[in-house]
Amino acid sequence: MTRLYAATGNPGKMREFRLAAEGHPEVEIEPLPGYPQIRPCLEDGGTFEENALLKARHYGRHAPGLLFADDSGIEVDALGGAPGVLSARFAGLHATDAANNRVLQDVLQGVHPRTARFVCVIALVERDRVRGVFRGAVEGLVTDEPRGSSGFGYDPLFYYPPFGCTFGELTPERKLEVSHRGQALRAMLKSL
Ligand code: IMP
Repeated sequence: MTRLYAATGNPGKMREFRLAAEGHPEVEIEPLPGYPQIRPCLEDGGTFEENALLKARHYGRHAPGLLFADDSGIEVDALGGAPGVLSARFAGLHATDAANNRVLQDVLQGVHPRTARFVCVIALVERDRVRGVFRGAVEGLVTDEPRGSSGFGYDPLFYYPPFGCTFGELTPERKLEVSHRGQALRAMLKSL
């Protein structure tokens, strides 16, 4: 049995990590014990890769074994790739998902085309040794109005053309099959 510790305080991400491990009985994904008490990591990298590595190295020192961190977000073409690494803070520090979604809708009012992608980079470390960096991306469109209440973050605004609905209208299983995070997680699990 391989145990992986996940460094996240985001319950939406944690649910998806655990779901990905369900098809891998030899792998167990657990939250990093004491995560809320650890000094938060300064996420000041300019790319998802940099931030995933910063987080994994920062929290890896506190893990008794393998640990991974996910840095992810949405890149909107009409905004030159923004909010990108600032996705969690688009409406300000500690912004709620609802506030971030509101800002995204506002800045895109009347804007076309509305092409965008979700990106997820996962860094896997053992203490301070990097074991791998895994990237996933999924292309879609930003809708005018939120649709669906499943998932988290920008899911209700992210329309996925092959399924004809937003990520907010998908079951967690169906989202993970195609999502940026599903891709990165499967690549990490395959590398073990
Ligand atoms: P991070 O903690 O800096 O990686 O923040 C990622 C942010 O990007 C989240 O707070 C969400 O706003 C957004 N995000 C990342 N992945 C997803 C997803 O799967 N669905 C919806 N929003 C996401």
